Amino acid sequence: MSFSFYNTLGRSKQLFKPLKEGAIGFYGCGPTVYNYAHIGNLRAYVLHDILVRSLRRFGYDVNHVMNITDVGHLSDDADDGDDKMVKSAEERGKSVLEIADYYTQAFFKDTDRMNIVRPTVVCKATEHISEMIALIQQIEKNGFTYFAGGNLYFDISKFPSYGELAMLRLDDLKAGARIEQDENKRNACDFVLWFTKSKFANQALVWDSPWGKGYPGWHIECSAMSMKYLGENFDIHAGGIDHIPIHHTNEIAQSEAATGKKPWVSCWLHNEFLVLDKGKMSKSAGGFLTLQSLIDEGFDPLDYRYFLLGGHYRSQLQFSFESLKGARNARKSLLEKVLAVDSGASGDGTSKYTQAFNKAIEDDLNTPRALAELWGLLKDKPALPAIFDMDRILGLGLEEAVKNGNNEVNEAFAKEIEELIAKRAEAKKSKDFATADNIRQNLKNRGIILEDGPAGTIWKRQ
Ligand code: AMP
Ligand code: ZN
Repeated sequence: MSFSFYNTLGRSKQLFKPLKEGAIGFYGCGPTVYNYAHIGNLRAYVLHDILVRSLRRFGYDVNHVMNITDVGHLSDDADDGDDKMVKSAEERGKSVLEIADYYTQAFFKDTDRMNIVRPTVVCKATEHISEMIALIQQIEKNGFTYFAGGNLYFDISKFPSYGELAMLRLDDLKAGARIEQDENKRNACDFVLWFTKSKFANQALVWDSPWGKGYPGWHIECSAMSMKYLGENFDIHAGGIDHIPIHHTNEIAQSEAATGKKPWVSCWLHNEFLVLDKGKMSKSAGGFLTLQSLIDEGFDPLDYRYFLLGGHYRSQLQFSFESLKGARNARKSLLEKVLAVDSGASGDGTSKYTQAFNKAIEDDLNTPRALAELWGLLKDKPALPAIFDMDRILGLGLEEAVKNGNNEVNEAFAKEIEELIAKRAEAKKSKDFATADNIRQNLKNRGIILEDGPAGTIWKRQ
């Protein structure tokens, strides 16, 4: 297999060549765990998942590293605003670590429900402070920093290729600098490597460092942890497009300033945004949709996965419940078709679809085309091995569904129904009959009937 990926660095589709034959180092920026992931965030992790599944399917050994940001991320990526973790902890009357723990678990609950394979290494920022300090010391030793107003800054004027990834021009950066500038910064795009007292007097988590008691800037965690687990240079780095101009630009600058080895990462993949009818979705602005809110509306997490696969990761995707319903219907008929396949059917004639499927995947992970090939196979020469093979990448749980001999009944699904039944019971107890009826109706839409009896509520397929 020869994969071509659209590399943001250079803005072109390029033939992918791993640094080391057969083994790939991949780092995907993980969540900031101050709130639930919204469904836009989950689009980013589905891309990481499709990438890893595809590379593994074609024989690569992939070391997939993902960070958990539990310190240092301010509401503005460029060092402005509140600390996201501290603000959330204060609002909820909990400690920062309690908040981090709760939302990290919630995050993996969501990704598991969406069949997103867990990374090989999951690393928390707060557990890698000494690696960050060592890396900052290296950057300092190489002459790329200055200390001002209690913070250690990265000086972008010392790094001539700053902004290459985002194709930023330094003149534009100066002109476009925000009015509310940190006056300690020598250049508008300089960024903090280590904060001490300047920002928040009552910062919850602080560590000793050569620059004083404090905490790291947000960007340094990704450089320090990726290099710890993947080496000074590695193959692929991914995140949402919002990370191109600041976060990833700064990661590159500080990493290459530390090691002197350019390019730090060979290939950069960025997913476009999921947008709502009403516009942008953001965790900090509130009003965002979570996976659970889709489930509460009667959808299966895999309906959402199917919906996402129907768009190419580099195209903006507009979310609406209408289109999610379309995805649900399509997935339902897909399952029906797969369940109807004769398990003894010969695989003759499937290879044309398999080849086209593989071509679509190696062509910058074109999942809409790949899905179309699966449909083509199902309509023409369906055979289970070829279907399951495609699903190793698509991750729609088709093999599991066939094994269970039923559309969707698997453990996760059953657990979800139990949870909804419990919610309905609670709603009834507090006389919120509208919610209770809603839950019953949503389950009915999914073909599940509830029966109330003396021993509680039981559920059945329609
Ligand atoms: P965060 O937890 O805010 O650091 O974001 C986690 C990931 O989600 C990052 O890779 C972001 O770039 C990505 N992301 C944020 N919003 C969206 C969105 N609306 N659509 C797709 N990806 C997003
Ligand atoms: Zn990152």
